[in-house]
Amino acid sequence: MSKYILAIDQGTTSSRALVFDNNGNTKSIAQKEFTQYFPKPGWVEHDANEIWSSQMAVTIEAVSKAKLHADHIAAIGITNQRETTIVWNRKTGEPVYNAIVWQDRRTADYCDQLIKEGWEEKIRGKTGLVIDAYFVATKVKWILDNVDNARGKAEAGELVFGTVDSWLLWNLTNGHKHITDITNASRTLLFNIHTLNWDQELLDLFKIPRSMLPEVCDSSGDIAHTSGMLFARKIPITGVAGDQHAALFGQMCTKEGMVKNTYGTGCFMLMNIGNKPLVSKNKLLTTIAWKIGNEIHYALEGSIFISGAVVQWLRDGLGLIKTAKDSEKMARSVKDTDGVYFVPAFTGLGAPYWNQHAKGTMVGISRGTTAAHIVRASLESIAFQTHDVLKAMEADSNISIKELRVDGGATENDFLMQFQSTILDTQIIKSKTTEVTALGAAYLAGLGVGFWKDQNDIIQKWKVDKTYSPEQDSNVEKQLESWKKAVQTTNYWTN
Ligand code: ADP
Repeated sequence: MSKYILAIDQGTTSSRALVFDNNGNTKSIAQKEFTQYFPKPGWVEHDANEIWSSQMAVTIEAVSKAKLHADHIAAIGITNQRETTIVWNRKTGEPVYNAIVWQDRRTADYCDQLIKEGWEEKIRGKTGLVIDAYFVATKVKWILDNVDNARGKAEAGELVFGTVDSWLLWNLTNGHKHITDITNASRTLLFNIHTLNWDQELLDLFKIPRSMLPEVCDSSGDIAHTSGMLFARKIPITGVAGDQHAALFGQMCTKEGMVKNTYGTGCFMLMNIGNKPLVSKNKLLTTIAWKIGNEIHYALEGSIFISGAVVQWLRDGLGLIKTAKDSEKMARSVKDTDGVYFVPAFTGLGAPYWNQHAKGTMVGISRGTTAAHIVRASLESIAFQTHDVLKAMEADSNISIKELRVDGGATENDFLMQFQSTILDTQIIKSKTTEVTALGAAYLAGLGVGFWKDQNDIIQKWKVDKTYSPEQDSNVEKQLESWKKAVQTTNYWTN
């Protein structure tokens, strides 16, 4: 009987499940969007129960679409939107508040206060992260401080917290396991990436009781088994990693100096920096790429908060396009942006600028500016932001990057990919599977259960879809200069 790996991919806008065969080909896929809540400006929430129910619905759909049953599934791999924070009751499994999503800015002022108090260097040294509302710890603290009785219950040991991997693992194991993988732990601001332990000083700083913390597990290996009615047998869960870490693995960027960029809602570039953490001098994050047995890999990361989301905004906010795909045709309908630059700082600016109060800014508008120019400037903004992060990575690592491996929804856009290659003057390699994040989770799970012998076995099966090479464009330098100025203008409007 042929065996398959089931990948559970819990993203920001949708829950997905994919079944992969031994060659890494997708046998089936199911996807379901779920509700985004915006209770106040800058606040973004999900219903944790909807995350779980939508995830289960697509999991069952993917397995049935592939006409498989539980015996065909060699193992499950999990990957998830990172930093999104859930606090739930240990006894009932009920969340005490909605999941606070990574994009949420409600704790920005508190983060400013910590920066003023001088915590930045210490926190960067321990966690590899910067102090920003993006990460988990301040979100947990907010829930404990603002939900009725939450702090008291947490201190009495009744509440637990977890990122989405942890929430899924809890539910998949019927509440038997409260665990999180090391990559997700490394996004909390509470985990010391040198000692590989939760850090008591940081727990004290954020006033988070230790009893709330999940146990930390490897990204690949014997992690858990499904339990309960959903599957006819216990299926091993042998791979777990946050989405960007899974994507780095799914792109097989397994050697030092290899880089990938995922163009989803946000844009996330990660560079494998080998077995030792390297502290960035250019405001990048240091994160744990994965840990498999005794082998740990670290990565430098640059997160861009708004990338594909700018296309969603063109569609849903402005109504300039009907579908995300239309953005390409519209961008190509003009020869350039006619001097328009758009910095989509909807939720502050991430790496390498880190201005959490920045607002979106469009410059260079004239009477002749059309919707097509705005659409084109929006797509270009994704490539410019990527450029800035990549340059910071090169500076930190002293490695000149030869190729960029790409994936994610917006890589469907040929205009964007070609523009990206030209702006970077670097080859762009698009992997055959666009669902690299899920594939990475499947690879981790497959390795954990012996479905693939080793990483070389996987590398041989890894396939390229398209390659983009830089075009000659004498305007690149000038465009980069104008973009830089546009980014600077966001400093003038921060109220
Ligand atoms: P996530 O996992 O963050 O939900 P995906 O990888 O599914 O993200 O990518 C979805 C994003 O890609 C959306 O923000 C969407 O606007 C964008 N997108 C999808 N197709 C295109 C396209 N053809 N051109 C530009 N952006 C696109």
